[in-house]
Amino acid sequence: MKRILLVLLLLVPVLVLAAPKNVYGSEQGIPILMLHRFSSAGSGDYNIATKDFRKILETLSKPEFCLIDLTEYVNASFLTRCQGKKPFAISMDDGHSSQFRFLKNGFVDPTSGLGVLLEVFPNAKATFFLNTTNGGAPFGTDSKAKIAWLRKNNFTIGNHTVSHPILSKLSSAAVIREIDGVCRYLNETSMLLAYPYGLMPPNPISSYKTQCQTKAAFRAWLGYFEARGQTKESGALLAPMPNTKAFSSRRFTYPRINISSYQDFVRDVLQNTAWAVVK
Ligand SMILES: [Zn+2]
Repeated sequence: MKRILLVLLLLVPVLVLAAPKNVYGSEQGIPILMLHRFSSAGSGDYNIATKDFRKILETLSKPEFCLIDLTEYVNASFLTRCQGKKPFAISMDDGHSSQFRFLKNGFVDPTSGLGVLLEVFPNAKATFFLNTTNGGAPFGTDSKAKIAWLRKNNFTIGNHTVSHPILSKLSSAAVIREIDGVCRYLNETSMLLAYPYGLMPPNPISSYKTQCQTKAAFRAWLGYFEARGQTKESGALLAPMPNTKAFSSRRFTYPRINISSYQDFVRDVLQNTAWAVVK
């Protein structure tokens, strides 16, 4: 009896660890991390402790991983560079001031989200999905200078709509205004789009007659538990690999993973059995 109990006790952790496989599915894909605010403590779904973010990046700086930019993802241009490695991307939404601060001497504040990223990955690439009027200007202050800095350093700036509305509740004219306003502000003609709250407009984004061309669009799963509740789709948390059918069929619904703690990262990314290795 004791023996059986011991076997059972040994099996339980194995079963628990194996459980996510059904949710993530067998389809291999790429984790696109989605971050919002950074603070010393970190609390809630949209606020990560800076030390957790640093710990995540340090884990991902090991040679088996390969940081890619969402522009490289959409163009499938990362494949050669990431050969034999597990690719991942980083995106930050809403242009919160904690993501990007300048010090008085003009350097990037090492305690801001971007500062921590550059400390671990000096040649980092990431994507900033910006609103133009979402509780203030992009990154709070010095918006134009910060956007210029990001462009100069080859970061991708994405469209997150003018005012962060629930697109599913808007008229066609309002959806178009929300998309085009960001392109006008940034003087762009074509951008990547992240749906606010991950919620899509009533019709497919490609059917709206916008001046600004949307190259690809990204949704947001809040994580493992939300994905389990919302979809049975395989690989729900991971963006499809370029050599798959889903890469074109899901071009306007690529998933991202919300990360607000190191535990989120371990559960949804590090232990994700469907994370693809580039072959
Ligand atoms: Zn947002």
